Amino acid sequence: MYLFRVPYLIQSLFGQRQWKGDDLNCVYFTFDDGPDERSTQWLLDLLSKEKVPSTFFCVGSQIEKHPKLYNDIVSKGHAVGNHTYNHEKGNKTSTETYISSVNKTDALVNSHLFRPPYGRLTKDQSSSLKQEGKKIIMWTWNSQDYNQNVSPESIVRKATLIKGGDILLFHSNPKSAGKLKKCLPEVIRIIKEKNLKFKTLA
Ligand SMILES: [Zn+2]
Repeated sequence: MYLFRVPYLIQSLFGQRQWKGDDLNCVYFTFDDGPDERSTQWLLDLLSKEKVPSTFFCVGSQIEKHPKLYNDIVSKGHAVGNHTYNHEKGNKTSTETYISSVNKTDALVNSHLFRPPYGRLTKDQSSSLKQEGKKIIMWTWNSQDYNQNVSPESIVRKATLIKGGDILLFHSNPKSAGKLKKCLPEVIRIIKEKNLKFKTLA
């Protein structure tokens, strides 16, 4: 049994991070790790067709590899956020290295939104980011699209549990691309059937 919904206890333990969106009539799609050559273009086309504004938490080194895809994300009206330069794991990285990775990415992504890779962040790193004016964005519903043991069909089934205010976690990376393409159109359909709207994080 995999946890798709983050328990309230965990959310309250990390109260200095933002878990939920403000508007309960909306859901907030987030796509981490891009831009990537296997899924980002496909994703942008789908989101345009379905009119789903989303938030992309981008990795600095990926932006440097795919500047055009990054510009397309921005020009299509999606929000962007910082997801470090090399996808560093907070608890395995010194605060100094971590913050310099974030700052290096700030030069590429103009945003106060930040999402820690793997959701891992030490207290020191969290305080330093707050001091720099970053808003640390987590999620309430995790697609687990990176998890080999989770099928696209089970992601679609779990999407029936999505509710207003949820921040939804997906990935735009090579590992998740195949699964994303299979499940995302259905997940969007399910959310539309619930009469929920879509918003970017701010
Ligand atoms: Zn990530």
